[in-house]
Amino acid sequence: AVQNNPDTTLVTTDAPITTATHGGRAKCLQRLARLALPVPTTVALSFNAVHHIASGHLPDIDAILRQFPQDALLCVRPSSEDPDWGGPSAILNIGMNDARYEILCGTLGPGSAAALFTRFVQSYAIHVDRLDPDMFDDITGEGPAALAEVLKAYEAETETPFPATRAEQLAGVLKSMARAWEGTSARLLRQAKGAPLDAGLGLVVQQMAFGVGQGESGSGVLQLVSSKTGMPQITGRYLRQSQGRDALARDADSLYISRDPRGASLEETVPDCFAQLVDHAKLMREKLREEMQVEFAIENGQLRILDGVRVSRSSRATVRIAVQLARDGIIPREEALMRIEPNALNELLHRQIDRHAKRELLGSGIAASPGAATGKLVFSANEAQASAARDEDCILVRRETSPEDIRGMHAAKAVITERGGITSHAAVIGRGIGLPCVVGVSDIRFQTRKGQLVTKDGRVIPAGEVVTVDGTNGTILLGATEMQEAALDDAFQDLMEWADAARDIDIRANADTPADAQTARNFAAQGIGLCRTEHMFFEAGRLTVMREMIFAESGDDRRAVLQRLLPMQRTDFIQLFEIMEGQPVCIRLFDPPLHEFLPTDRTGQSELADALDLPLSDVTRRIEAMMEYNPMLGLRGVRLGVTVPEIYEMQARAIFQAAVFASRDKAPVVPEIMIPLVSAKREVELVRTNVDAIAAAVTAETGVDFTYRLGVMVETPRAALRAGDIAQHCSFLSFGTNDLTQMTYGLSRDDAGRFMSDYVRQEVFVEDPFHSLDIDGVGELLKLGSERGRASRPDITLSICGEHGGNPESIAFCRDAGFDYVSCSPFRVPVARLAAAQLAI
Ligand code: PEP
Ligand code: MG
Repeated sequence: AVQNNPDTTLVTTDAPITTATHGGRAKCLQRLARLALPVPTTVALSFNAVHHIASGHLPDIDAILRQFPQDALLCVRPSSEDPDWGGPSAILNIGMNDARYEILCGTLGPGSAAALFTRFVQSYAIHVDRLDPDMFDDITGEGPAALAEVLKAYEAETETPFPATRAEQLAGVLKSMARAWEGTSARLLRQAKGAPLDAGLGLVVQQMAFGVGQGESGSGVLQLVSSKTGMPQITGRYLRQSQGRDALARDADSLYISRDPRGASLEETVPDCFAQLVDHAKLMREKLREEMQVEFAIENGQLRILDGVRVSRSSRATVRIAVQLARDGIIPREEALMRIEPNALNELLHRQIDRHAKRELLGSGIAASPGAATGKLVFSANEAQASAARDEDCILVRRETSPEDIRGMHAAKAVITERGGITSHAAVIGRGIGLPCVVGVSDIRFQTRKGQLVTKDGRVIPAGEVVTVDGTNGTILLGATEMQEAALDDAFQDLMEWADAARDIDIRANADTPADAQTARNFAAQGIGLCRTEHMFFEAGRLTVMREMIFAESGDDRRAVLQRLLPMQRTDFIQLFEIMEGQPVCIRLFDPPLHEFLPTDRTGQSELADALDLPLSDVTRRIEAMMEYNPMLGLRGVRLGVTVPEIYEMQARAIFQAAVFASRDKAPVVPEIMIPLVSAKREVELVRTNVDAIAAAVTAETGVDFTYRLGVMVETPRAALRAGDIAQHCSFLSFGTNDLTQMTYGLSRDDAGRFMSDYVRQEVFVEDPFHSLDIDGVGELLKLGSERGRASRPDITLSICGEHGGNPESIAFCRDAGFDYVSCSPFRVPVARLAAAQLAI
């Protein structure tokens, strides 16, 4: 009745076996059997059957056994819905007993026969009777003598003889495996891997393919691609006179699968089996629509296929495998796109620490910008630049970074900061320029003045020491580690093209410099969604002019100094327009408080006094007067635009002149100008009037008519609430979710890193809201703002440009809300393209 019983089913029958009822392994074995591969007889027990066994109701054991030849040994293996959820260990050679041993002594010789039996008794004792593995510690030697000792130890411990019949043994194995699955530790383990509370376990009972025997016998695994790269490469191991996964044991004296300079191979020694095996693997790939690792045995020269499991793979191999399956017409392109977790692309875009590299951990923090790099520790931007000049790789260490550190960051290979969260300065810049970055490293003491780090256990790591920073998982390691290079290969390019064909929301990049813009282009961003112009003022030669401007006494003086900054800005914008070749470029007017540009230390201040030819006391007094208690909520953004209008005027002029220049004999550039930190519509009116006047002046001066788009950055809660009347004065709204999150929570983005992990651990926040968009709160404002904006101006363009723009969940939210595009760091663009495609499929 096994054939027709939905709970104990012969896999060769037509009875339905599904992953959801019998588990993945049972399903796979049925498919292999249907492909007419030489799979030994297999009976699948459903989740239901196993659940019954756990509660004491065994299925009809004799009915199961009748499916197998009377003298066949059996094995039982777990079959859960997802192989990652684990399961009890397989038990091989069920049916071994004295009689069977006698026969095997005749065919294999007493040594091998005894070894098999001994191993079976031990695994039965440990896994079925749950005896302590230590009880066999004293057994020495091998062969029949060891077997006798093992049996004696078993009997002494259990006070019963070793079960003698196949039926008894099978019943014992089934019961123990069913109960192991229901045990607390197994349940917690699989739930940690995402298994549902009621995840079921199936079991497969299979006839042993005897990898031990007189003719060519053994067992092994084979796959058609490299797990590391996904490139075609037949690899695996084969061990003569072995069973199960013995061939993979580290010290196994196994053969390579295909010809290998390192040693003998299955291909050379058993070419027939090898050829069949490769054919079977290819058939499995085609019919199971997946790269499979084939588990096989050779039994007296006869090949048996025991199982197939998904080839384990790195992220790079995941992409290559999916793309190649689609190229070969085995799966549709859409499915290839769906098979790749968007964030896994990060591992292709950056150098990574090799999965198998040894790591000596010094400390960890928030993984703020992915990729890994090795270098010598330096403690200031100047030292970083000096290092780069010597062609020496360095890691920049700062308590936190400020705009003054940007040049140092460009010179360094990675940056770590003691403070800060996912949207702190170091994090934003790091992601922008593709620099690995770890912030909020609270378990290391940063003694920047002494130029050293002190780890939790008191270890001092001085400047000059070589460390490796892993920005992908937020760790800092001692020394250099083995790396895997970035892989923007043809498979990646194909995948990205397919994603673009599928998606229905645009992806732009946040890019501040020509280098960023070039990266954005390389990753096929559809424009720049946010150019933070203030970063341009930190370049060499500009900072002093900027400071002079800040110290100007009157509007006229200020204009005069700004006149010197104008050509520099114009050049910046011309470069951006030229690199972007007609794609939209959204330039945000000046945003930070002015005092960010002033030196905070005594030396810097006296240098400034020298440069400006002012008494030091004047300089310090002015700097003190500009200090704010809460600079992020003070005089910045549009508030500067309203109260010190000359800066925005200069920037608007530079943008328009650049647009005119970049448009000569080309399609006209339509610049987008964005106003930051707006909270009232009147702010927009005032800036708009000034900017319109500058546009008219530039048209008059150049004789060229041009258009531009003015937009508002929605990054205060009030701007979101009042989006209806603000939209009347602008043609686009871009949600700046960094500040909007900061202001919605009343949570400083620069200080939150200090306690964020406590908050997440205690489940106050599900996740860091600066990292993944708070749909319930900040999302509500996004929704309100976009609805009100669109209601008042139906053709308004809506977008997001905060750091959330590159997160798959935020993209889903923005797409649902009908946004036109998302804008994110250039290196997030591929992730965003794939995530957006998956939403549209
Ligand atoms: C924002 O606030 O979301 C934003 C994009 O601007 P910044 O990070 O420069 O404040
Ligand atoms: Mg902002």
